[in-house]
Amino acid sequence: MPYWDRMPYKQYRLAQDQKLARYIREQVYPYSPFYRALFDEHGIKPESIRTIEDLQRLPFTTKADISPSMNDPEKPSKLILNPKTELEGRKARGAGARERWLRLTRGNRGYQDLVDDQYKPVYLHFTIGRTALPTPVFYTASDLCRVRQCGQRISQLFKLEDRELLINAFPYAPHLAFWMTYFTCEATHTPALHTGGGRILGSERILNAIQRLGGCVLAGTPGYIYHLLREARDNGRQLPSLHTLVLGAERVSTAQRARLASFAPDLGIKHLTVLATYAFTEGRIAWPECRPPEMAGAAPSLGYHLFPDMEIIELVDPETGDPVEEGEDGEIIYTSLDWRGTALVRFRTGDLARGGISYELCPNCKRLTPRLSGDIVHLADYKEFELTKLKGTLVDLNAFYPILSGHKDILEWQLEIRKANNDPFDLDELHLYLAPVEGVSKNKIKEEVASRIQRELEITPTKIVFTSLPKLLKQLGIETESKELRIIDSRPST
Ligand SMILES: [Zn+2]
Repeated sequence: MPYWDRMPYKQYRLAQDQKLARYIREQVYPYSPFYRALFDEHGIKPESIRTIEDLQRLPFTTKADISPSMNDPEKPSKLILNPKTELEGRKARGAGARERWLRLTRGNRGYQDLVDDQYKPVYLHFTIGRTALPTPVFYTASDLCRVRQCGQRISQLFKLEDRELLINAFPYAPHLAFWMTYFTCEATHTPALHTGGGRILGSERILNAIQRLGGCVLAGTPGYIYHLLREARDNGRQLPSLHTLVLGAERVSTAQRARLASFAPDLGIKHLTVLATYAFTEGRIAWPECRPPEMAGAAPSLGYHLFPDMEIIELVDPETGDPVEEGEDGEIIYTSLDWRGTALVRFRTGDLARGGISYELCPNCKRLTPRLSGDIVHLADYKEFELTKLKGTLVDLNAFYPILSGHKDILEWQLEIRKANNDPFDLDELHLYLAPVEGVSKNKIKEEVASRIQRELEITPTKIVFTSLPKLLKQLGIETESKELRIIDSRPST
């Protein structure tokens, strides 16, 4: 799709239908053991899936379906498209003739290279599960070309310049954020220093690199970037070359963005643009916002631009599973379009997009691709914390982020869920640790935070403990963990 961002809705929708029908018929059904069994079990003929609406006849694929378990450690490999698994006599239509033609024109070796390029997994990364076994997501060489293509689009939407140095501060790990950044820079010939984050290079050396090498773009998790900028300011550093922050891997609120942008004057920066991405591991790429004009300030996000030739995103009511109306809140359901490696059809992300999808022309960049609401609740990141029952009340712990990360008098925070007397049968307790800005009234913060939590979450923290910033940073593992320990569940198991 050369005009991926200029195709009117009806046109790309039609293209999506065609691509989907072909993908299901020629790739997913014949080559995916998991989906072939699922189609057969439900008596659905692959040829009968002709449009996105037809997809609704298929059940959702859940995280439990794809994550390895003690009983079935091989589960993730059943989602990999593998032409060798095709049953005899069930060859996808035309596949035999195509194979013969390719063998004839390219030779057996050439044909095998072509097959390997398409189907042999060469790269994988993991979902960051906290309770389940890590789930691998596989890419083939042709998938990595798609990742690079996506990287080029991200760079276009962010208006990044390929002569400007990017500093990648995402934690080095087999996780999406670090590698998406890597492939974006590689694909767009952008010079980059992939630092590996605090745990690998250390914050001081990352800041030195920005300062000495003239880093223009800094990419990382909102929590870690905030930590870096605050360190820089407290040490009187000047980072005049830096003009863009690219955030990923975590949800970021408007208040948090404003707070990040507000570091600019102290760091000798004229204007700092904050850009966010949305991604989940199984989606294999990230979806970006477009760069807003400088004078927009910290306006609410216009949403994440989707790539309709690479995926199908449906939004459904998380309770009933029925599709929601345009612009309504809904759970994000993902179908990979034309990907090899791990193929997913109607995968439940567990993420809720508040405000749904917009199909209108983007008022900022004038692109026509659909935009997913910028207000997404990453239920999946904290699945086991999501709607945790605390003191008998269902609580969405994600709601702590905007309250605390956006608070101007709080430098860092951590939430610990415990049991009274460390007894698994006793009451739940919420301990909130706060590192306040020097000189502000602790009582005032305490009152403010407690009443806001009470108002928005209908619970009261058992204890609010004030602590020093260095101590809290250690507790959070900012320099030692690959993901900061923002919310921890210390409840003993029964
Ligand atoms: Zn736009």
